[in-house]
Amino acid sequence: DGGYERYRPGMEARGAENNRRAAALRTAILEDQLVVYFQPVVTLPGGRITGAEALVRWQHPAEGLLGPGAFIDAAEQTGLIVPLGTWVLRAATREAAGWPGELTVSVNVSARQLRQPGFPALVAAALDESGLPARRLTVEITESVAVGGGATTENLQGLRDLGVRLSLDDFGTGASTLTLLATCPVDQIKLDRSFVPDGGPDAIADAVAQMARAFDLDAVAEGVETEEQAIRLTGLGYEKAQGYWFARPMPAADLRARLTTADVG
Ligand code: C2E
Ligand code: CA
Ligand code: CA
Ligand code: CA
Repeated sequence: DGGYERYRPGMEARGAENNRRAAALRTAILEDQLVVYFQPVVTLPGGRITGAEALVRWQHPAEGLLGPGAFIDAAEQTGLIVPLGTWVLRAATREAAGWPGELTVSVNVSARQLRQPGFPALVAAALDESGLPARRLTVEITESVAVGGGATTENLQGLRDLGVRLSLDDFGTGASTLTLLATCPVDQIKLDRSFVPDGGPDAIADAVAQMARAFDLDAVAEGVETEEQAIRLTGLGYEKAQGYWFARPMPAADLRARLTTADVG
């Protein structure tokens, strides 16, 4: 799965295990053990690369390459998600600034990061430092931002004022998805992969695509694993997709190599 060790049952981050993880993670951030992988986002139809999503990995000295499932919960609960998120943001914008044309980078931002006062200034600094234009950065948020509290609403507006694009991730999985859509000024919705048609009914994928059109939003489908799914989604009106069928998350250097040869745009 994306080249890292699968999350083993019983490894669920909580309690003492969480604290142990958190201590090690603090070291990881300080000692540069984190790595950003990138998964291409492509056009439907055509499969041309339009950008990529930054997905954090932990090059653990003893356990090998770990996916976020092994440490994001611990990071959230201890607040380490804030420095981790800043690290990812800076690494991702720096990398994307070297990509050709108008390719975009999407960065996942947790509710906890988003409610930090001054978050837009931090994003502005990362853009400044990297030279990446704001329009080429998409911030992905999940429904948990709706209960984010703190400076969340102000920060979302602040990001928009910078010219950063906002995407609603895992769309359709939350209880107040529609409320969020009505109150949160986003540019894009990402259909959760659990609703990607897989031979069965595609009513939800269809409804989400229609909703995107009604609100004039970009509709992206994620977790696309087969050609048939890509064709179905294209038929439903999805203009972008992400998934193993097109490309797995990969190290920055692999994506860079692909961008010099692939059909980009
Ligand atoms: P997400 O934002 O929904 O990211 C998509 C996940 O789906 C990634 O898992 C990706 O590797 C996986 N994926 C992509 N295509 C396919 C496919 O065709 N089939 C299947 N089965 N899976 C696919 P990953 O990299 O393990 O990340 C898991 C979650 O961790 C992310 O879900 C996101 O919520 C969180 N995450 C990752 N990086 C960061 C980060 O820098 N900050 C924060 N706050 N969260 C992050
Ligand atoms: Ca995401
Ligand atoms: Ca998602
Ligand atoms: Ca998810």
